[in-house]
Amino acid sequence: MTGSVKYKIATLGSHSALQILKGAKDEGFKTICVATPDRISLYNRFKFIDKIIEIADFASFAKIEEQLLKEKAIVIPHGSFVAYLGVTKNKSIKVPYFGNKKVLDWESDRLKQRLWMEKAGVPVPRRFTKASEIDRPVMVKSYGAAGGHGYFFAKNKKEFREKIKNFKARPYIIQEYVIGVPLYIHYFYSPLTNQLEILSIDKRYETNVDSLGRIPSQNQQGLGIEPSFVVVGNSPLTLRESLLAEAFEMGERVVQTSKKLISGGLWGPFCLETIITPEQQFSIIEISCRIVAGTNLFIDGSPYSSLYYDKEVSTGRRIAMEINEAIKTGQLSKILD
Ligand code: AMP
Ligand code: AMP
Repeated sequence: MTGSVKYKIATLGSHSALQILKGAKDEGFKTICVATPDRISLYNRFKFIDKIIEIADFASFAKIEEQLLKEKAIVIPHGSFVAYLGVTKNKSIKVPYFGNKKVLDWESDRLKQRLWMEKAGVPVPRRFTKASEIDRPVMVKSYGAAGGHGYFFAKNKKEFREKIKNFKARPYIIQEYVIGVPLYIHYFYSPLTNQLEILSIDKRYETNVDSLGRIPSQNQQGLGIEPSFVVVGNSPLTLRESLLAEAFEMGERVVQTSKKLISGGLWGPFCLETIITPEQQFSIIEISCRIVAGTNLFIDGSPYSSLYYDKEVSTGRRIAMEINEAIKTGQLSKILD
């Protein structure tokens, strides 16, 4: 690292913290993990974590910000930042933050997110605004639903009308249920080089939807089993090479469109959550504008990241590489918010 300031990389002890901090250490940074008391013993086990700052709960992040500022920390957000701090508290973080916080408003509002995808020309599932229009299986999603909580599935209009009575979350969106393979594409966009990389791809394992096939349908009858989509883990996956070109192009259009819609645009890691139909069509069900947990499979690199780099590059390490490059070329302000 050049320059007189020695920056440190910090994140919350949860989600993909191990990957982020390992990658930062591999790139020569000192690392800080902000952890709740129950997780201290976990993060103490790893030598690549230089310092642990204890916090009673993540929601009180503001209390330790002065300390992080003194340490010259750069914060790397991940799924827990949104889940535990929410959009408003994320936006008020004073410690230099990797990524564009303005993207949060577009990501957290399902209609804005959809508009972004539509303007980018990426296919999205059909949306129903009135119950009377429902003519196929649907998925009902509250805003800010995370990890598969806050959803329900209805196979037709009648079932939607019954189930919506007990669904308290507002607002919500009604989406066509796309039948196909759920596939999560992990991108990284560098505003320093204007290059978009696909670093890895995963497939989630969700319960009980991914395990329903273990009970034959004739045995399920009468059990009243409802599909649920709570993520329990992730598996690696490589895409048919013929679909890769489209995967890159979709990512590029999403980045280009973000520059028109959002001041500064989207940069760093993001994930397009897709479903691929039997006709080999992508349908984008969601965008996550930061590192996703599926990248944890690839702490020592992936079949895709090794196409770019002769070392083991995870998404966490790629973030640290970008920060190093920005320090070296005097462009830190371009990647921090
Ligand atoms: P945790 O570190 O398990 O407390 O998770 C923090 C946040 O990330 C929660 O909102 C989880 O729902 C989400 N999350 C954790 N692991 C995954 C995963 N493998 N895939 C998707 N979301 C996840
Ligand atoms: P999400 O929180 O948006 O990542 O969605 C959680 C899970 O719900 C996904 O991993 C899918 O299994 C499922 N899902 C969400 N939207 C749809 C959809 N429109 N069609 C089919 N499955 C969906």
